[in-house]
Parts: sequence; structure tokens; C-alpha cells
Amino acid sequence: MRLEKIVQKTITKYKLLKNGEKVVVAASGGKDSTTVLHLLNKFGYEPEALIVDLLIGEWSKKNLENLTKFCKKENIPLHIVSIREELGFSMCYIREIAKEKLKLSHCATCGILRKWLINRKARELGFNVVATGHNLDDETQTIIMNALKGRFDLNSGLGPKAGITDSCELGFVPRIKPLYFCLEKDIEAYSRSHNFPVLYERCPCSIGAQRREIRAMLDRIERTKPEIKRKIIEKFLRMLPKLKERESKRAITKCKICGEPSRGDVCNACKILGVLK
Ligand code: SF4
Ligand code: ZN
Repeated sequence: MRLEKIVQKTITKYKLLKNGEKVVVAASGGKDSTTVLHLLNKFGYEPEALIVDLLIGEWSKKNLENLTKFCKKENIPLHIVSIREELGFSMCYIREIAKEKLKLSHCATCGILRKWLINRKARELGFNVVATGHNLDDETQTIIMNALKGRFDLNSGLGPKAGITDSCELGFVPRIKPLYFCLEKDIEAYSRSHNFPVLYERCPCSIGAQRREIRAMLDRIERTKPEIKRKIIEKFLRMLPKLKERESKRAITKCKICGEPSRGDVCNACKILGVLK
């Protein structure tokens, strides 16, 4: 199958997984991370799944139900982290406060906290690698969004192997993206053809998110300029080594509050948690 070959090639070419590494998939119950779980399992990497239950109403409930069903069927161990047990509140509550006090968008708050929790939990559970469901469409959108913010430097953390360092010294668990060269529409077709129990509608909180606008814009351009997304990625990957080299000179340290890796004295997650007090 074409998609399977692309993923296998990506894992080999970019050395995403080494023999004996313990890999956990940052799962959401959606089509992308479910496809990653299925493929890593099929290829014999014995993945486990880790989901942060965001408590976004019925949407989170259904995703958790779907993922539990899928993992049971594929015999994949599932770890569930409840945001309320970890942080004391639901994601909906935290995002409202962060929006008011820090002017952060809903998705920015959600992304920061989810990444922070996943890194910490993956490390505590003894995993060497976190695999995510990011695909070619996601990556292209992120590159453009960072460029529009005037923060092209933020793109240094992108690529099939995310982060500017694969050192675990500071507590980073390296993140890999096996679907890096797969288009979202092909993943959806694969997921549907395998009858994965997933929701195909987007998170209800993504309405109004800038990513939606960028996605629509890129889809529109791709209709008249086929392969534009792939070309953006190819060009970007040629620039990435230099970008990573430049950014690696900027000190990464440990957050003085939580001890997680951070660009400043206090990490973004702790800044959000600070305004909840
Ligand atoms: Fe979180 Fe935004 Fe993704 Fe919803 S769309 S899960 S709010 S990052
Ligand atoms: Zn912190």
C-alpha cells in the first residue's frame, strides 16, 4: 500500500526509530495518531498509546471511547492522563483564563499544555521516543503560521524528528513524525478503508483558529498549483539543518518551577499554570 511504503521509507531514511527503543504514540483518538499506532504496530515496533483527556465535552468522551476500543482490538497498551487530575481543571476552563490573562489563543494553550504533559509522562513511563500524528498538511501550515507571526525561528523545532536537540539530558523525549510525508486526505482514505473507529469532524474548539484559515488557503492554492505543499516541505527541509544549527546556540535550560526543558527561566506551561492560581 502506498501510504505504508511512504511511512516505512520515512522511518528508515530519517532514522526515526532504533532497535529496542520504547515508543509511545501521543494519541488523540483521531485518524492521524490512530493510523500511526496501527502502522507502528504492524511494522513490529510494539508501540504504546498515551492520551491526554482534555475534557472537551462529548468530543473528548467519544475520542477516548474510540481509542480504548481500537487499542483493545490491536492489543496496544493505553495510558490515560486526565487533565483535571494533573492540573486540577478542564482544558476549557484553563483556556478561558489563559485567553483573558495572557492573550493566548485556545489552541496555543491546549498545544503547550498537552506537549508539556506528554513529555513529562512519556519520560516518567520510561519511553525513549514519542511518535505523533503530524502529517504533511500540518507541517506546511505550521511553517506558514510561524512565518506570518514573524517567528520563522520557531520552525527550527520542526522536521520528521522534532526538536533542535535529540539529547535527553534536559529531559526531552525526542518526538518523531512517521506521517511527515503523507497528505491528510490520503491518511483519511487509509483510516476509512480500515474502518478505524475515529471521528472525522474537527475539534469543536478549533473554530476560528488561525490554522483553519491557513489550511483553507493552502488547499485553495493546491487546486491550481498541484504539489505546492510537498514543494514547500522539500524546500524547508533543505533549510532546516542550518536553522537547527543556529537555534541550537540559544540556551535551553530547565524551567525553575517544573524542571521541564525550557527556553527561558520559566516554561510556557508554568506561565499558564501561574495565572490559574
Ligand atoms: Fe486543542 Fe485546538 Fe487541537 Fe482542539 S483543535 S485539541 S483546542 S489544539
Ligand atoms: Zn515549567
